Amino acid sequence: MAKPPGPTVLKSFGRQKYATLDEISEREAIILFIGHYSVSFLAKRIETPLPLWLLFLAVQFIDMIWALFIFTGVEKANISHEVPGTPLNLFFMPYSHSLIGALFWSGVAFTIVRYLPIINNRNFKKAMIVSIAVFSHWILDLIVHTGDLPLWLNEFKVGLGLYEYAYISFFLELFFLILGLVLYIGLTTGKGMLGTLGIYVLLILIVLLGINSVWGVAPPNTKIAAGFLLFSYIFFSLIIAWLEKKRILKI
Ligand SMILES: [Zn+2]
Repeated sequence: MAKPPGPTVLKSFGRQKYATLDEISEREAIILFIGHYSVSFLAKRIETPLPLWLLFLAVQFIDMIWALFIFTGVEKANISHEVPGTPLNLFFMPYSHSLIGALFWSGVAFTIVRYLPIINNRNFKKAMIVSIAVFSHWILDLIVHTGDLPLWLNEFKVGLGLYEYAYISFFLELFFLILGLVLYIGLTTGKGMLGTLGIYVLLILIVLLGINSVWGVAPPNTKIAAGFLLFSYIFFSLIIAWLEKKRILKI
């Protein structure tokens, strides 16, 4: 097919070889979330008393807010069946995924960790690290999303678009996730079989869900997609909370 006039990106799938930038900003081909967890492990390495269950929730906090906003109709998205994977068209997410929104939610996370009794020995440093972990979600999304992240409310949308290259983005996210896990494994020793092997089972679970979200069956509607993500994030956080009790810090 002839290259359309104006800026384009080479498509790796579908009948049409080139997608215009307009088309790309109208949809989101893939939702990958596994790379975010590498930040959780890095934060754990920096501030070992912080529980991983909290860091797991922190790196996905913005997506969890998104899921709640999708349920309540505050934010909007739809499913487009024209592209493979999980084609979520994220056309309206000004409160959860704008730059200003991400800064706001990072502030909320800071306040929660600093002032609410959810962890032991609360202090500024711990609250700040959790807050940065929350904000890291937006930075990583910026690298992979395809022009649907607004800077201010629903305007000035950005995204460097690594998701256009499904395999590259998947393996990069996987690489960073494994790197994070290696950091954590180096920091701790497992108690018994579950403590030693459980962490690898969790890794496999996260990767399988990651594969499903890229190459699996598209969800029938956005609310189911949001519910599935929300459930997965809480589920992984519960598992890591349980696994952390079965591993002891070396230092
Ligand atoms: Zn996100």
